[in-house]
Amino acid sequence: SKHSATDIVDDSIATDDTAAAETMAAAAAAEVSTPSLAPEIWAHVCDFLPYQSLLQTAVVSREMLVDVMPRVTMLHIDKSCQLHAGVTHRYGDVQDIYIYSLIEFEDDLESYDCHLDDDTLTRALPFLCNFSSCLERVFLGGRRPSNGQVEGYKTDRFSVEDDMKMNNFIDLFSGAFRAGALPNNVWIAGLSCSKETRMHINTCKVCRNACKSFPLSSVVDFEDIHVIKKRYRFRAKLFDDDIFGLNVCLKRTEIEEIILGRPGGKELLQSKARFMTLLGRGVRHVVITDDDEVLYVVKYDDAVLGQINGFIKHSSMDVTMFPPDEVTEAIRRSFAADERDPLPPREQCYLAESSFNALKELGLPIEETDFLNE
Ligand SMILES: [Zn+2]
Ligand SMILES: [Zn+2]
Repeated sequence: SKHSATDIVDDSIATDDTAAAETMAAAAAAEVSTPSLAPEIWAHVCDFLPYQSLLQTAVVSREMLVDVMPRVTMLHIDKSCQLHAGVTHRYGDVQDIYIYSLIEFEDDLESYDCHLDDDTLTRALPFLCNFSSCLERVFLGGRRPSNGQVEGYKTDRFSVEDDMKMNNFIDLFSGAFRAGALPNNVWIAGLSCSKETRMHINTCKVCRNACKSFPLSSVVDFEDIHVIKKRYRFRAKLFDDDIFGLNVCLKRTEIEEIILGRPGGKELLQSKARFMTLLGRGVRHVVITDDDEVLYVVKYDDAVLGQINGFIKHSSMDVTMFPPDEVTEAIRRSFAADERDPLPPREQCYLAESSFNALKELGLPIEETDFLNE
């Protein structure tokens, strides 16, 4: 539509347009009172704005549009009508896109009546295909209006019709990855297959297709929907809850079988890097002490320990010979809020003793003194 905010943004650099000239005049007036921040600082502020506010910010001045927008790294999209290719070329460095319009909630407090938004199902993928290879993560889901809680697709809450739509949607992503239409390392989070019954031989074409088509780096973290999902997958700093990657109806062994059949799959699954990644998956608990001190306590749950153990069993590498510094550093990654975040100060970090012992028993070259604080 001609007068949507996105169009205004694009128009505002065309000075021969009256509306744009007005916008520029308004911007000039606004600039007087706008605190002067460096573009990179503004970009950081913009990372946390809802999409509509971001577009309005872009309208404020040509400087915002030209200097700030290309530095924005996160987009937060609340409405399907914002999934619009118009200004996507303005964003040079977008790494994360959060789309909250996929799930609509009929939010009568505790009721869990949700449904998929058809418009988002149609627009999301073409929108995402406009972004460059900087794009690393995409979350698709919804935000509960009563408390703002962010949720991905949880199969038991939707109609059978929605379950089918979701499976078609996953298939579209598989197709887009195969066609090279999406950046080839992007992590898609929030989607889930809904097949509930478990056969002896799983024939779900949607999940098999996804395991064969999605980037290997994300397929290694696909989860079995039948396994209790309590641990780390996608710790995005804005969320209270973990947001899951793609949940499939295949067993872990079935997922790994498909990975092993893909080029580079075996190397990835059995690489040292993969092992170090697993070590960084301890579950972080934030503890506030009586003195208002913040402490970070990391524990490894059985599922992660099981994966670490499975790696050791199947690998031809001798993990006991890995450099102790690297192993210790990999474990410490669990203390960060997000895999891209820096570590908190060491004196605030505690590794649970039971977890230290469990890792030590697996033969890891770790020393207790490396995890002591006093
Ligand atoms: Zn438009
Ligand atoms: Zn499935």
